[in-house]
Amino acid sequence: MESQKKFSPAFSFELFPPQTPQGIEKLKLTRQQLAQFNPKFFSVTFGAGGSTRERTLETVLEIQAEGHIVAPHLSCIGSTQQNILEILEKYYQAGIRHIVALRGDLPSGMAQAGEFRYASELVAFIRQEYGNAFHIEVAAYPEYHPQARSAQTDFENFKHKIDMGASSAITQYFYNADAYFNFVESCESAGLNIPIVPGIMPINKFSQLVRFSDTCGAEIPRWIRRKLEGYSDDAASIQAFGLDVVTQLCERLLQAGAPGLHFYTLNSANLTSMIWQRLDLKSNPN
Ligand code: FAD
Repeated sequence: MESQKKFSPAFSFELFPPQTPQGIEKLKLTRQQLAQFNPKFFSVTFGAGGSTRERTLETVLEIQAEGHIVAPHLSCIGSTQQNILEILEKYYQAGIRHIVALRGDLPSGMAQAGEFRYASELVAFIRQEYGNAFHIEVAAYPEYHPQARSAQTDFENFKHKIDMGASSAITQYFYNADAYFNFVESCESAGLNIPIVPGIMPINKFSQLVRFSDTCGAEIPRWIRRKLEGYSDDAASIQAFGLDVVTQLCERLLQAGAPGLHFYTLNSANLTSMIWQRLDLKSNPN
């Protein structure tokens, strides 16, 4: 973890583009609540295949107009170079200089047509077209990507994204800090010199957490799963236990030198705010 300590800590909040007028209003309140913590940036997800293209753009521009730094996610699977270039150009013209570059997952049934196969190709394309204009984040998987053939090839593929020009990484969420420490050590051994910011998923609903984790390959350790199962429908106990688990995880990561935290807020400020306050985090320096 030594190499991570030299990066100044960056705290960021991930949002998704809302679909309904009520969702838009709720997200404004969520942003207001989270903005008091002065995050380094808000990020906004992007549906693979361009399914949220306009909504992501609108949300990004709205957040930027409020005076915050915003990092749009951009997933390339199912897209042409022309599609991607149009989106990048809109962001560039709007003064956005921070992108989270992803492959994405096409919804089942959607054809795989497109000119990008992997996130590394998107990173290379952004660097080819825009040089160093954008700070490019990529995804990292301390517990390895669910489709990876092996831990070793997945790590090589991650390294390739950095070799193609990625500036920093945000991890998939995890509840096992050792997986993150081990991943960072592999990066140090391979000479990768970028911040790797842990992605943090507050625990809210057990069924939702199981669904997400099954899809993205994040492990819910047995002791956490068994405790949450035991609470059944007792939402207050699930939240209280989840807050303890996630706060302790964040403390351990920061004490070991993690260069910040990226919160998967799911457009709700409450749990993230409570974790933040328990950690007594200081806002990002401007
Ligand atoms: P890649 O880095 O391309 O890796 C995908 C898989 O391909 C891995 O198994 C890798 O080992 C393998 N691979 C890579 N290169 C090669 C190669 N050359 N040859 C063979 N195999 C290779 N999804 C969205 O749709 N929208 C979002 O906004 C979004 N935001 C995210 C934010 C974060 C921080 C994270 C961690 C994930 C996010 N995702 C999002 C999910 C992500 O798109 C999926 O996890 C997707 O399955 C992989 O994307 P990637 O960018 O990691 O892909």
